[in-house]
Amino acid sequence: LRAQYAALRHLPAQTLDGQSVKLQLNAGLLIDLGNMAETGADGIGLYRTEIPFMVRSAYPDVPTQAEIYRRVLEIADDKPVTFRTLDIGGDKTLPYFDGGVDENPAMGWRAIRIGLDRPAMLRQQLRAMILAAGDRHLRIMFPMIAEVAELVDARRILDDEMQLAQDRGQTLPNRLDVGTMLEVPALMWQLPALISRIDFLSVGSNDLLQFLFACDRGSPRLSDRYDTLSPAVMNFFRDLSRSTAESGCTVTVCGEMAGRPLEAMALIGLGLRSLSMSAGSIGPVKAMARSLDAHRLTTFLDHHSQSPNRSLRTLLKGYARDHG
Ligand code: PEP
Ligand code: MG
Repeated sequence: LRAQYAALRHLPAQTLDGQSVKLQLNAGLLIDLGNMAETGADGIGLYRTEIPFMVRSAYPDVPTQAEIYRRVLEIADDKPVTFRTLDIGGDKTLPYFDGGVDENPAMGWRAIRIGLDRPAMLRQQLRAMILAAGDRHLRIMFPMIAEVAELVDARRILDDEMQLAQDRGQTLPNRLDVGTMLEVPALMWQLPALISRIDFLSVGSNDLLQFLFACDRGSPRLSDRYDTLSPAVMNFFRDLSRSTAESGCTVTVCGEMAGRPLEAMALIGLGLRSLSMSAGSIGPVKAMARSLDAHRLTTFLDHHSQSPNRSLRTLLKGYARDHG
């Protein structure tokens, strides 16, 4: 089976009806990047910068951070890398940063909330990314954005840092793309204002689903409570892909569901064309995409959009079986 996936490495993730799907990797350690060539991934769709922070015992200064990001860009070569700014707090703590205690950490002081309240940290991180990029393409993504105003504030800090870099005579990135995660449902009802201000959007379905269902993503007692293939989730993605179509804003799904073939199939059927996942999922998802007629599945999913069932899993499994 592994050999079968390896054979797909140089083949495009293109559906039977000619739809191209971009498949990228989620990464956080340099070791994850070793999988780039092996999987034939289109880039790093999500680089979780908190991971290298978590494995250190002291706060990495700007040169140390820049060195990490430079190596990531070098390994990725000419493929794009999407750097997500720190998502600490919640369940991800740093031994050298006191984030206090929240009763509901997932909804607490984390990610961009810390970044905007402690702008020195965010500033240093952005400075390191600009430094690391040199004249390369730089993509920066802000996590846990709940309001357009937060993106505007974060972007202002980034613009400042770009200006400072220019004033210092530094080489600037040949292209800068800015995006946000979509993990907080409130963002869904600010899409026109949001997408006119960003280049891309990436759905963090792990957090998004826990907020949509008010269901802790880490609780074993709740792990079977709601299904990722429920009508609500499917309708969310359909609405999202319709609202962003023709906007020029690329939408990626980078939560765990994007790496599961049945879920990935549904996402493609709902109109998504960019998925980011762990290395082991690229082969199976590509094999699925290459045997799928995306438009036919779209019709099927539209037909079942008001299903009273808790999940479309059984239906979709049947569909996958009957259609190769
Ligand atoms: C997500 O929430 O789906 C996501 C990709 O971010 P993380 O898993 O790092 O919270
Ligand atoms: Mg998340």
